[in-house]
Amino acid sequence: MKTEFELNTPKSLRLHIGIFGRTNVGKSTLVNYISGQDTSIVSSVAGTTTDSVYKSMELSPLGPVTLIDTAGIDDISNLSKERIERTTKSFDLTDVAIILLSPNIWTQYEQNIIKALTDKKTPFLFIVNNYKKEVLSSNFKELISQYKFIETELLQETSYREQFLSELKQKLLSVIPENVLNLQPLTQNIIKSFQTVVMVVPLDLGAPKGRLILPQVQMIRACLDINAIVIITKETELKQTLEKLKYKPDIVICDSQVVKKVLDIIPKDVLFTTFSIIFSSNKSDFKTMLEGIKAIKNLKPENKILIAEACSHHASKDDIGRVKIPKLLSKYLGFEIKFDVSSGIDYPKNLEQYSLIIHCGGCMINKKQMISRLNYAVEKNVPITNYGMVISFVNNTLDRVIEPFIK
Ligand code: SF4
Repeated sequence: MKTEFELNTPKSLRLHIGIFGRTNVGKSTLVNYISGQDTSIVSSVAGTTTDSVYKSMELSPLGPVTLIDTAGIDDISNLSKERIERTTKSFDLTDVAIILLSPNIWTQYEQNIIKALTDKKTPFLFIVNNYKKEVLSSNFKELISQYKFIETELLQETSYREQFLSELKQKLLSVIPENVLNLQPLTQNIIKSFQTVVMVVPLDLGAPKGRLILPQVQMIRACLDINAIVIITKETELKQTLEKLKYKPDIVICDSQVVKKVLDIIPKDVLFTTFSIIFSSNKSDFKTMLEGIKAIKNLKPENKILIAEACSHHASKDDIGRVKIPKLLSKYLGFEIKFDVSSGIDYPKNLEQYSLIIHCGGCMINKKQMISRLNYAVEKNVPITNYGMVISFVNNTLDRVIEPFIK
């Protein structure tokens, strides 16, 4: 039997299924019904009443999924701003949505949900929670028949539930686009089977004790998945590592912070990039991020930048986002750069106050959320770029690290 640890796929790699609908329509019941006893629930993190609730489970054949039980926000007058914002944020990371309906109730609220999902190009289907066996009006039927829908009573009998789950999975599969269901692997088309990949991993003050950080772990796993050969070393042992290899590696991937040191060591004809740039290419829009770099040259002392990181962590005195990048930029520009930091799920709404957003690789959030963040910046006309690109740019090594992606 697999342990919880073995089953625990990172949240960022799970398909996020958002359950939306008005208050008391039965969203929590539906989440519990889907994540019933014959499914392997990996974890469930309940928030406060203002929060969405996340439940992670295996939903074969869709794979590892996270169900998001969102708070209903139909009765706006009685709700806190915070609760509305939490539910609104759930739209940002939902890969596919289930809109739960009460029989014969279709109002502006349901239409607003459809609009919010459509604006984000999020596929969705309806479930009509008809536990009182109400007769559906022809009007209501006509409205929902334009979409994929399931009418159900959520009965507890095993056979009923199995039939429901089978129909649900089949309908979900029919609305989810292939590129959402099967995300492009981190190896993309830059690493192939049996190629040799040297990863350079510094263990500085910012490195957590006793483990590697998630972008490195995910990259190692992605290489192993395609049968590539992975060699891991620190920058201090890179020279000896290369000397011990019979052939040159096919690609060297390093942490952004040691780009210069690594470039001084590796042969000029070996492909080279950073973990951060691989994530930027895999999770967001590479061109937009690269375009954002141009804003650095136009920064003035009165401008402010946003350092956006997708997880909350205790910042060390060597922290890449809060310490190293501002220092490098200030040195490059010749003046002290003003900056704010956002971390975890907090991503400011008032982005227009910034002249540039520098985002981390986003290994802890799903692609949908990363793209939502990028789109908010684009909508506000604020250039956005990535940690790795900025560090390489100020070190005059950008052309070299982006080469594998623009060939
Ligand atoms: S800061 Fe960003 S890239 Fe780094 S670990 Fe957190 S989510 Fe991943």
